[in-house]
Amino acid sequence: MTTLITHWADGARFEGSSGRTGDVTNPATGQVTGQVAFAGAEDAQRVIGSASAAARAWARTSVAARTQVVFRFRELLNERKEELAALITAEHGKVLSDALGEVSRGQEVVEFACGIPHLLKGGYSEQVSTGVDVHSKRQPLGVVGIISPFNFPAMVPMWFFPVAIAAGNTVVLKPSEKDPSASIWMAELWKEAGLPDGVFNVLQGDKEAVDALIDHPDVKAISFVGSTPIARYVYERSSSNGKRVQALGGAKNHMVVLPDADLDLAADQAVSAGYGSAGERCMAISVLVAVGPIGDDLVAKVADRTRTLRTGDGTRGSDMGPLVTKAHRDKVASYVEEGESAGAKVVVDGREVQPDGEQDGFWLGPTLFDHVKPEMSVYTEEIFGPVLSVVRVDTYDEAVELINSNPYGNGVALFTANGGAARKFELDVEVGMIGINVPIPVPMAYYSFGGWKNSLFGDSHAHGVEGVHFFTRGKVVTSRWSDPAVKPTGGLELAFPQNK
Ligand code: NAD
Repeated sequence: MTTLITHWADGARFEGSSGRTGDVTNPATGQVTGQVAFAGAEDAQRVIGSASAAARAWARTSVAARTQVVFRFRELLNERKEELAALITAEHGKVLSDALGEVSRGQEVVEFACGIPHLLKGGYSEQVSTGVDVHSKRQPLGVVGIISPFNFPAMVPMWFFPVAIAAGNTVVLKPSEKDPSASIWMAELWKEAGLPDGVFNVLQGDKEAVDALIDHPDVKAISFVGSTPIARYVYERSSSNGKRVQALGGAKNHMVVLPDADLDLAADQAVSAGYGSAGERCMAISVLVAVGPIGDDLVAKVADRTRTLRTGDGTRGSDMGPLVTKAHRDKVASYVEEGESAGAKVVVDGREVQPDGEQDGFWLGPTLFDHVKPEMSVYTEEIFGPVLSVVRVDTYDEAVELINSNPYGNGVALFTANGGAARKFELDVEVGMIGINVPIPVPMAYYSFGGWKNSLFGDSHAHGVEGVHFFTRGKVVTSRWSDPAVKPTGGLELAFPQNK
């Protein structure tokens, strides 16, 4: 008997009536540990209806009261983050320290949202015309939908919902069906924090749930994060339904190492950023670009470090956990086979891994390729696994050309000792998030997160000022209040109003 992971509406779990469910597995054991409800049309209507019913009262709740609830959510999350991290490890497979890191980075957005009154302030201009003043304000949209991927079941939803809720919206979260338990845990935490029923809701499921959300007329905005083909689909369908949408897609992140870089630092960072979370991060480094004569040295240093990594059950102190599902593990392994047949050199072979974990876990060790060419599928595809490819180029210009020709533009890193080269790189690359001697440049909560090109559809990035802007809309009020002691000089005037 496995547990059923339910939807959440009107401040409570509910099982739904579609009769459809999906398996949830523990990737370190391969065992099915739960069933997640898959919403049908009626379930979606119930969950979205819960958000619609709560929208008006929450939008009218004072900013002070709203942010106090967000602050209590932050306190509870901070106290109990180990519980959430354990849930993530059990369904995603990432090691516990990494799961805790994910929760902490999500918490930063909750902390940012506690200060939202400052960003909800409008402007005021006195006496723009005689006796006339103007002020602006930002108001919530109503119901907003968040559709999240498997790789950050807590952090990615937290990129959006703290800001959306603090701004006065109600939320329907559609988490990944692969690791859905975090969403219900967070729903219960919101309830404990005092959030009114209906403000935060969870709709579990697959494409049917997504389509119901993006087609529903009550849902005013969609924040999506996932692979590029689905991001494009959600962007186009939501936009054609008249919704505001930000759809963050896939990635292929390069790390360029110039000949003057500290190669030990670069090798440490490449291995950490390439294999952390088994490479299942949208900001993972998957291409290491060695510029000039350093190729052999750099590959040797990266290979030595890669061989020290312990792959195993995330609860046992391993460096790297399993992949999320068997199907995903097999797909990543198939890219390794393709790379080898295409002529790339397998320097470290993750297929030979001896994991510290159950036999049926979804294991694939860290794999290092050298002499990868841009036309090989290990380079062209977003592999989303523990596979690091070294591409060797002769010059800085070739490295930049490689990056700018890539259809993705999420993250990129440059390792160098030369400030001028770093500055030029910042100007030259067509990528949304850049690290200089920093491999995974995930912006702080008060900046905005987002890539360029096929890594983001829409024009608002997540959290920071752009996030607040995304979840609110502006109003400008022009008003005339006359001095009671002075009789207004009225009269008809049909010409277009001019300021006097
Ligand atoms: P995915 O695209 O398979 O799923 C994302 C969401 O879409 C899930 O909630 C899923 O249920 C839903 N979905 C899946 N198929 C669908 C369909 N046919 N129609 C409608 N909805 C559908 O992505 P994933 O495998 O869960 O996550 C990994 C991907 O997410 C990678 O490509 C990664 O780069 C990307 N990602 C990007 C960012 C970013 O910030 N750009 C962050 C995290 C993950």
